[in-house]
Amino acid sequence: MAHQLPSLPYATNALEPYIDTMTMEIHHGKHHGAYVTNLNNALANYADLQDKTIEALLTALHNVPEAIRTAVRNNGGGHYNHTMFWQQLKPGGSAPSGQLLDAINSAFNSLDNFKDVFNKAGLARFGSGWAWLIVGTDKKLAVVSTANQDNPIMGKEIAGVEGTPILGVDVWEHAYYLKYQNRRADYLGAIWNVINWDDVAARFAAAMQ
Ligand code: MN
Repeated sequence: MAHQLPSLPYATNALEPYIDTMTMEIHHGKHHGAYVTNLNNALANYADLQDKTIEALLTALHNVPEAIRTAVRNNGGGHYNHTMFWQQLKPGGSAPSGQLLDAINSAFNSLDNFKDVFNKAGLARFGSGWAWLIVGTDKKLAVVSTANQDNPIMGKEIAGVEGTPILGVDVWEHAYYLKYQNRRADYLGAIWNVINWDDVAARFAAAMQ
């Protein structure tokens, strides 16, 4: 079963004015679409890997043959990260509550301070990558960032960090350049208006089990 580009759970113009329509069309259809195509192409001659879930591939990249390991890491990571990203955005946004909000307050003192720490991690990522809120192996919340399409589920040896991501924000220029040009800080400031905290809360609950 080949990997497939998931449909967006909202219209491409639904996140305006924070994320513009053309960025959503190109980001989802072209960038994410290319990761899926390239992942399937990389796996074309490896029948035993084609039935594995994307999570199974990314959490055990050492089991992927070296000839296609970089392609699976980059394109499989891109597919996994973007699939998560679309689910974490929502027209009108929402707000964290309950145990998730308690955990954020406990780890970062306040929601505003958490956003500040997260945005600084996204700004500090030189070049392309992602900022993440993760549940670490110690079950505590932490903010980290990864390069390119790496994800904390790939493990420390590959991604430099490890844990279960519950919120990820794309800081590649392709995520914001058409509207924000070089102003990554403005993009990071705006994206909190369209975060789907229900999705973050569900991932938090699963990671804490
Ligand atoms: Mn992207």
